[in-house]
Amino acid sequence: MKVTEHFEKAKGKTLFSFEIIPPLKGQSIQSIFNAIDPLMEFKPPFIDVTYHREEYVFKKLPNGLLDRQTTRKRPGTVGICAAIINRYQVDAVPHIICGGFTREETENALIDLSFLGIKNVLALRGDSIKTEPGFVPEPGGHSYAVDLIKQIVSMNQGVYLHEDLQNSSASNFCVGVAAYPEKHFESPNLSQDIAYLKQKIDAGGEYIVTQMFFNNKKFFNFVEKCRAAGINVPIIPGIKPIANREHLTLLPRLFHIDIPEELTEAVLSCKDDKDVRQVGIEWAISQSKELIDYGIPCLHYYTMGRSVGTRKIAEALF
Ligand code: FAD
Repeated sequence: MKVTEHFEKAKGKTLFSFEIIPPLKGQSIQSIFNAIDPLMEFKPPFIDVTYHREEYVFKKLPNGLLDRQTTRKRPGTVGICAAIINRYQVDAVPHIICGGFTREETENALIDLSFLGIKNVLALRGDSIKTEPGFVPEPGGHSYAVDLIKQIVSMNQGVYLHEDLQNSSASNFCVGVAAYPEKHFESPNLSQDIAYLKQKIDAGGEYIVTQMFFNNKKFFNFVEKCRAAGINVPIIPGIKPIANREHLTLLPRLFHIDIPEELTEAVLSCKDDKDVRQVGIEWAISQSKELIDYGIPCLHYYTMGRSVGTRKIAEALF
């Protein structure tokens, strides 16, 4: 089923969903099942699986020069989606990105997903390669998520890259897009970011999932601005429980978000990470309760491969 159909079927009840990341190369799929199994009793209608592009690793040669090698540390997104559908009979939402893909490779990936019966994708530009200063599109690839969305929508109309195809079968993907209540870090301001978000929705984005945030006021302000800009699709908040003291610096650095003073002080006054985890869970529960009251269709949790915190939150809410 499409994600948007799950929202319609829920008739106003807030759904529970979450995102997982593929394990590091060399680990078994069991680590994914171990992360998902404890969350299944809360009946997620769909599970997102992130996509991780290639990275450069530099190996020192005997002559002292550095040899640049390309590797993907977390492959397996499509296989994990197929395994999720097969094992749990819930929908899987693969993330697909522009980075590292030509249009042709994107088309091939979408054909694979369509043949697997996958009905949903989250369409993203993707992050830049870790060692590069900014995002560089693949030659013949897309520069922005909006262009990827247009390609998916074309396939949904039976239009493939080779226009001479006849009687081509249309795909049927529901397209989700990403957004940032505290603005995307490359955007000059929130209004301009929302103007670009509107382009993604006008191109065919059917629902929005947000970056994590810790202050609901920022989410409410963002939703109001989106509605004022004419964005009327469902907006799903992304929630991440803080799990250790390092998150206070790591999450702002990686995701360009603020951590409220009150939460920071509570984390800093903890005696160990066990205490921090409890503070993080309580904060996420109180955030989630307020969001449910606000009427959001779904709460989406970033598990990052660890389900213990998300399970405690779900126990309190669902
Ligand atoms: P876009 O919507 O293309 O926007 C990128 C930037 O360009 C923004 O600053 C925007 O304002 C600007 N912009 C957009 N359109 C235009 C235009 N026409 N002209 C000029 N500027 C423009 N990354 C991964 O690599 N893998 C994942 O699985 C993944 N999952 C994610 C899931 C969620 C819910 C979120 C919120 C993010 C995820 N990311 C993932 C991170 C994401 O790929 C990065 O934040 C990336 O930098 C931006 O992606 P986007 O799709 O939002 O890009």
